[in-house]
Amino acid sequence: MKTPLSRITIVGGGSAGWMTALYLNRYYNSGEKRTAITLIESEDIGTIGVGEATVHSIRFFFAAMGLDEAELMRETGATYKTGIRFRNWKKPVDGKMHEYFHPFEEQRSPGPFDMATSWFSSDRPQGERYDELGCLSTTLANAGHSPKSPTSGPYQGIVPYGYHLDAVRLGRYLRRKAVEAGVEHRLGTVDKIELDGERIQAIHCGGARFESDIFIDCTGFRSLLMRQLKTDNWQSFEDALPCNKAVALQLPYPGDATPRPYTQATALPHGWVWEIDLQERRGNGYVYDGKRLTRSQAEAELRQHLGVPADMGKALHLEMKIGCLKSFWVGNCIAIGLSGGFIEPLESTGLHLINLSVRLLATHLNGADVAQPVKDSYSRLMNGIYDDLKRFIILHYCLTDRDDTEFWRQVAQSAKHSPRLEQDLALWQHKVCEFMDQAGSYATVFTDENYRFVLYGMGHWPQFPPLGSQAQHQAVRQQCQARAKMALEQTLPHPAALRALN
Ligand code: FAD
Repeated sequence: MKTPLSRITIVGGGSAGWMTALYLNRYYNSGEKRTAITLIESEDIGTIGVGEATVHSIRFFFAAMGLDEAELMRETGATYKTGIRFRNWKKPVDGKMHEYFHPFEEQRSPGPFDMATSWFSSDRPQGERYDELGCLSTTLANAGHSPKSPTSGPYQGIVPYGYHLDAVRLGRYLRRKAVEAGVEHRLGTVDKIELDGERIQAIHCGGARFESDIFIDCTGFRSLLMRQLKTDNWQSFEDALPCNKAVALQLPYPGDATPRPYTQATALPHGWVWEIDLQERRGNGYVYDGKRLTRSQAEAELRQHLGVPADMGKALHLEMKIGCLKSFWVGNCIAIGLSGGFIEPLESTGLHLINLSVRLLATHLNGADVAQPVKDSYSRLMNGIYDDLKRFIILHYCLTDRDDTEFWRQVAQSAKHSPRLEQDLALWQHKVCEFMDQAGSYATVFTDENYRFVLYGMGHWPQFPPLGSQAQHQAVRQQCQARAKMALEQTLPHPAALRALN
């Protein structure tokens, strides 16, 4: 019989710390309290303060935590997100900026062929994008509509959706919920760690000593506990993904603009800019290659892109460590959040990775003494998840035809850092990308659906003789248009859906 898990100590009070505390408290202590969970956070070291867009599966995390969706959105100034509008990731064609939309939606063809085959085979209007054929989220985004109908229940919509939310307010909200649920909250800076080989005996903080069965390192890029436990435990992805710095700028809405129900990701000469609309303000940021651009150059490029003067808003400059640990679980310590790894925020996956990590941890951590194969399994799965995500993010860059800077010439070659992707890209020149092509990978949130939106949005589609008849494809097109019209009639404009939260 295993020794029961009596105490877990989490160090770090950012989104990672509080999401972990909430989830594990619910997992181990619902019904009967079995495990004391303490979270220690420093008042002197802040949280990263960014992380404002999510993927759609975060809804299931919040729902599973019993959080009221309307309250969550009010407390975090949140808006709805139905996808990402990518702009400028390729050269303009006929003077028109390259653009595509990546929704969370699954394409369902009403015809005899899958949607991609129908699109390739049809006489489509000049310049039509793949996502414009049958994707309801594109229609809603273009019209500025939310994913919600007046009768949609909590966490439900006409199409899948995530959120844009204020990261600092999210931390505070999760903290309140976790403390109400019984998590012990201690303020203090951990200043000493007692080790016994690869095991943490205790941590010290403001004169107090904390022993625990398990320690969870949620200290952000500092990776305070993990760094002490194991050296040579980091694998960098910067060769493949060179954007390693960011500059963020929060601004009021220009003029009478209202929040857009999607994230905008516009490519610039040395990276890309996010625009994330919250209820009361817009979050902007330039994710860039810090080897090619100084901080002040990056800030100037961001301000020029946004059309704002040098004295408007205070820029926050951030370093990013792109990569992940080799072992996520060492001795009695597990790293979750930025302390375990980070892949640049292009697909808004930070909170998603925390969600995946903590769910996996809960099923692996079933006693005070955990067998080595269980720890190895956790690290292996986490490595697979990171590798899967790395591949998907490279996909966004490697299909570019931009060659205006050394940065774009480098990232156009980045598929070589993922042999699996290189192989798949060669395959997808000849056939549609389908579910089974991803079989055997750690596909988590990004499946063949997502790959198709990015592949075809970036113009990488197969060449094969058309199938079916134009009458069949025309019928598909008409049914898609009818579905889109119905979705528009059913859903609330984004501002109205936000007002309905009050
Ligand atoms: P942090 O927020 O850095 O928290 C670290 C905590 O550790 C703090 O509470 C600090 O006080 C504590 N701490 C540190 N040292 C000590 C010590 N000695 N003693 C006690 N406590 C200590 N994610 C998304 O999902 N969507 C996005 O759009 C997105 N955009 C991003 C953009 C950028 C530029 C970056 C860098 C990240 C982005 N992320 C995004 C990732 C997201 O911000 C993080 O995954 C998330 O905020 C979790 O951070 P964290 O809790 O691991 O670390």
